[in-house]
Formats: sequence, C-alpha cells, structure tokens
Amino acid sequence: MPASDAAPSRAQVRLLGYPLGHSLSPLMHGAAFAALGIDAEYALWETPPALLAERVAALREPGYLGANVTIPHKEQVVRLLDEVSPLALRAGAVNTIVKRGAVLRGENTDIGGFLWPLRAGGAVLDRWRVTLLGAGGAARAVAVALLDAGVPRLTIVNRTPARAEALAAALDDERIAILPLGDAWVGGALAQSDLVVNATAAGWRADDPPPLAPDLLERLPDHALVYDLTYRHTPLLRAAEARGLATIDGLPMLVEQGALAFQFWTGREAPRPAMWAAAQAGRDNR
Ligand code: NAP
Repeated sequence: MPASDAAPSRAQVRLLGYPLGHSLSPLMHGAAFAALGIDAEYALWETPPALLAERVAALREPGYLGANVTIPHKEQVVRLLDEVSPLALRAGAVNTIVKRGAVLRGENTDIGGFLWPLRAGGAVLDRWRVTLLGAGGAARAVAVALLDAGVPRLTIVNRTPARAEALAAALDDERIAILPLGDAWVGGALAQSDLVVNATAAGWRADDPPPLAPDLLERLPDHALVYDLTYRHTPLLRAAEARGLATIDGLPMLVEQGALAFQFWTGREAPRPAMWAAAQAGRDNR
C-alpha cells in the first residue's frame, strides 16, 4: 500500500522509485525491524520523476530515518541532497538517503552489496577482466566497485552509447573500454573476460530478450562467472548454467545492500539471517 505524504508517528523509511512493482525491500526491512524490536516501518513511495524533489524534501519531516532510491532516480537524486559520501559521489549514484538531524546524506550501498558475494566466493578481482552490461545507476556502482577492487580491464557495453561514454568520462580510468551493444567487438571482449555482469534492466520478465545473445555467451571462457543483478533466475543465468558456467543472481546483493542501508538508518548491526530469509521467501512466493 503506498504510504501517505503526512508526517508519520512511527519511525519511517521509504523506497522512492518508479515503478515499484517488484520490490522485496519492504519484506526484508520489515523482518529486520521486527528481529531487533525496532518500531519502524519501510514502505513504498511510488515517485514519478516530477515528484522526486517534493518527496525528498518530505523526508525532512520528523519521523523519517531515511530512504532507499531505485530506478529511475539514483542519478538525479544526487543534486537534491545536502551531502553525498565520496564513494556515492564517485559513482554519481545514490541508493540510500540517511537523515542525520537536519541533514540528508546520500550513500551508495549497492557498491558493498555487489562485492559481497564475489568476495565470499573468493573472486580474484585484481586479476579478473570484466565485461559490464549496462550504464545506468546500478552499473555506475558496479563500475566503481570493480575499479576500486583493482580489475585490470573493464569493458562497459550499453544499448545507448552516450550513457556509457558519460560513465567512462566521469570515472576517467584508462582500464575502461566502452562498446555499443551489438558491436562486433563485444564477442572479443567476452572471450577475454573472467566475469560478466548484467546491470541492465533486461531480465525481469520471462519474455524479455536476454541482454546477451546466446551466440555471444558462447564466446566466454569456460572458467567465466556470470553475475546477473536481477534477483531472479533469468534467461541469461539459465543459458550460462546450461553452458556449465558458474553464476550469481542478484539476491545476495539485494540483501547486503539492504543490510548496509539498515545499519546507516538505525546504527545497529543488521540481522542478516532474518533479512535473507524474508527476501528469499518473498522471491520464491512471487
Ligand atoms: P537504470 O538506471 O534505469 O538503467 C537501466 C540500464 O538497463 C541501462 O543501461 C539501459 O540501457 C539498460 N536496459 C534497459 N532495458 C534494456 C534492454 N531491453 N536491452 C538492453 N539494455 C537495456 O536502472 P538501474 O538502477 O541501473 O538498474 C538496473 C538493474 O539492476 C535492474 O534490473 C535492477 O533491478 C538491478 N539492480 C539490482 C540490485 C540488487 O540489489 N540486486 C541493485 C540495484 C539494481 P540504456 O542506457 O540504453 O537505456
């Protein structure tokens, strides 16, 4: 149920995005508040672009701990905040707003969330060449995470070349190459990749065209890992598994970015097992 704009009595966190149909975050954060006995509510705030500034300003009302920000606002919200962490500023994308007194501060917990399953799985990022599909808000966080982790090569492939060019220009790093989706060189980049990350929005619906054509997936080396930020078993992941490649879906990232955001809002250690169980149950019941 969408929350009202009136100042609330319980502590509140909001998710600002448009549209918000597929979010597991209310379940996950509701379970976290319950596990720690915190009287707070996490609710969806469907926010068309024209309402973004007004909704961010409303977070200044008493009762709000902060918010999450998702598609399509992660980049546009930066200019509406009082402070932005250096990491989020580098990514040019904010997914978490934290209220400290009168100050609204932007953080990017997608960066830590993205890295978590890679680190847990023993990824050797300072030796891995990576192909990144997408150049939106999530891809910005992924690119910063990978460059800071020391990857020797990052090829960004996007449908709209100008958006990849803007990301490469903002990060200004000689390890970055950019290619338009469909370019003949994409196969060559994949053939030299240890990791491919899908940070595009393609993959939510069963009939979505995969972000990589099947013949391109064949170009990956046998040891390559395919990581899809979508938190479901996408056609890309199914095709990669059919080829015998290792895969990671977006659920571990979702839980870890949520846990890091929860810690910013509450100052408490996040109850990750409760969050994980709620997110997994929510996904499986979908
Ligand atoms: P965004 O800013 O709207 O960017 C969307 C990206 O997807 C752009 O690069 C866009 O390309 C590309 N795209 C969209 N439809 C496409 C299609 N049919 N074919 C090829 N490319 C397409 O969105 P975002 O915030 O970056 O989110 C991207 C994805 O990451 C979403 O699925 C989101 O749910 C997921 N995500 C997951 C987590 C997690 O915790 N697991 C966290 C953050 C995001 P153009 O530039 O050409 O439009």
